[in-house]
Amino acid sequence: MILYLVAPSPRFEFLPESDPNPTTVQIISQKHEKQIISFSVVLFFWIFYNVGMAKVADLFIRAEHADLMKKLNAWDVAYHQNDAPIVDDATYDAAKKRALEIESEYPDLAKDGASTHVGAAPSTKFKTYPHSVPMLSISDVFDAAEVADWFNKLSNKDLFIELKVDGVSYAARYEHGVLVRALTRGSGVSGEDITENIKTISDIPQKLSGEFPDVIEVRGEVYMLRDDFIALNAAAEQSGDKVFANPRNAAAGSLRQLNPKITASRRLSAFGYTYGEISNRTWKTQSEYFDKLESWGFKTTRKWARHANNMDEIQAMYNDIILTRADIPFDIDGLVIKVNDVATQERMGARANSPRWEVAYKFPAARAVTALNGITVQVGRTGVLTPVAELEPINIGGVVVSRATLHNADEIARLDVRVGDKVTVQRAGDVIPQIIGVAERGADTVPFNFPKKCPVCGGDVVRSDGAVAYRCVNTLGCPAQRIGELEHFVSRPGFDIDGIGTKQLELFTERGWIKSPADIFTLIALHGDELRRMDGFGDKSVANLKSAIENARTIELARFLTAIGIPDVGKTTAKLLAKNFGTIDAVRNATFDDLIAIDGIGDVMAREIVSFFQNARNIAVIDELLKYVDVKSADKKTLNTVISGKKIVLTGTLMNYGRDAAREILESMGARVQSSVSPKTDIVIAGTDAGSKLTRANELGITIWDESDFEREIKNAGINNDGTQR
Ligand SMILES: [Zn+2]
Repeated sequence: MILYLVAPSPRFEFLPESDPNPTTVQIISQKHEKQIISFSVVLFFWIFYNVGMAKVADLFIRAEHADLMKKLNAWDVAYHQNDAPIVDDATYDAAKKRALEIESEYPDLAKDGASTHVGAAPSTKFKTYPHSVPMLSISDVFDAAEVADWFNKLSNKDLFIELKVDGVSYAARYEHGVLVRALTRGSGVSGEDITENIKTISDIPQKLSGEFPDVIEVRGEVYMLRDDFIALNAAAEQSGDKVFANPRNAAAGSLRQLNPKITASRRLSAFGYTYGEISNRTWKTQSEYFDKLESWGFKTTRKWARHANNMDEIQAMYNDIILTRADIPFDIDGLVIKVNDVATQERMGARANSPRWEVAYKFPAARAVTALNGITVQVGRTGVLTPVAELEPINIGGVVVSRATLHNADEIARLDVRVGDKVTVQRAGDVIPQIIGVAERGADTVPFNFPKKCPVCGGDVVRSDGAVAYRCVNTLGCPAQRIGELEHFVSRPGFDIDGIGTKQLELFTERGWIKSPADIFTLIALHGDELRRMDGFGDKSVANLKSAIENARTIELARFLTAIGIPDVGKTTAKLLAKNFGTIDAVRNATFDDLIAIDGIGDVMAREIVSFFQNARNIAVIDELLKYVDVKSADKKTLNTVISGKKIVLTGTLMNYGRDAAREILESMGARVQSSVSPKTDIVIAGTDAGSKLTRANELGITIWDESDFEREIKNAGINNDGTQR
């Protein structure tokens, strides 16, 4: 049994329910609301009069379908291309199910609908190739009745049942036993070239052993073991890198890296389970194919697979696996039930996007009801108060959950959860526990009173305009914030001082030795003798501490900017600032306009940065620090090319480069990539579907490059497509 204590992390924040600040579009639409309403009424009656009631109902259903497809497409892009899902699987599945229902009534919608639609189009970050045999998806069923519907129609009832591994599909093509190309599923018709990345996974052989067909495309799933996922996230948390929501996203994010070395550094595992193109088939059943896979050097889910001939056996396996899911070292989201005999499979064929001979029997969303024993409020380094639900420990889909984040006061009010209630907890995406509602109101419960004072220092708590979070305003005196800030300061992405952790910081602040980050650099000189005499220290550890602190006296600009804790500025933004401004003085003096000109920095962040460097206390802390610390200026240019120092704007879609990849390449060529076109812009690189930015560039007479101009300069500069130098 695994025990996860999931601490609330700001990186796990969910999207807000609604936008608290109306956008321009919303404001405009309010102005014109009356005209729109009267126009809509006229339109409605016109339609009603002309087309009749039945047709009107049709129109509504068609509109619903269009809306569902729009959502599904957006969710697919978030999930498949960006590896960052925005809804849980249950919501996705429900929307897809409804779209399929509508398509069965309105077959003409199926063509561009959920029936024919597999995943999202491949991203432009990678080269894409067509699949020689389309990569179909497996149609989902959600209960025994639906399975029985499918099962009863089968002529051959010899079934082979496998686990449905929650990972990322791949297709690996072998010619004469040698791996020649690997693709992602992509759109199902074409996929992204991930050959180099696949080669870093030891579960996928680069050469097949034993006897194999001349051409065989093995298909399977790349996944991450739950333990490897936890270790990866723990390390990412330490170094301030992106934390993944679940093992599947971690696997997808690791596999789809432009730099295969990053893929290699992540512990990815893989199974084989099916095949695409083959030159000749030497197996008669799916279970024999598993034998072949193993003889060639692949791993399979054989250990859990079973044969079945009737509904009772199917349901027994389903029940067994749900109960033992926690003991399986990777995430699964159901079973795949296949007709075992391949000749029968071939006879049955496929619907538009899924074979008829297999179904995915999905597990219900991982939910459970448990008691809410308490709500504790934690105070972070920026003073934000985060409420955490203390739960009666409960096993949800194989994971014991005892805490869940409640995000903020609004979320508590929205759910109206009260201490003493029974609450429904869901593990969306298999790891993050979330309270989705009150299952049963407890006796004599009262609404939760969000603290009016900081639970750590007793300071006042305020909520600034438009913000959801309450903050303790006692910035200087709040121990929780001081320690949080110092912890952040010495952490790995910051000054990286070994030997100073939370315990030491508590001790040093209690004694008044450290009040502000600069005090760390005088600690040994002023208090070294006392420290040597203290329990748990001694000469050796004080000497180590001293050298760790001395080493930190010289620091790169990006690390310095990360360490000082500008709100919303993490490692990535700090690097961006360093690259664009070069010196700490330039960053401190940057105006709002300078900042938003940088691609990757928006209004909110620019405002935060400007106000951070205007705050009197921050100015004092930084000035004091700079007495002890030497901040190395960042190299603004890495290569001397024709575009070094040039201001460049990207617009439209490039065929061979994703936006981030193109930006990285341009930056490595010494260019400054900006977000909007101005008279100061030197070059606009326009891909297909370029819009207003291209128009503006034409008006201003700015040099415009198309993708081939860009590629030519990349070649001239001697840079590889992934931004590395040749
Ligand atoms: Zn406080």
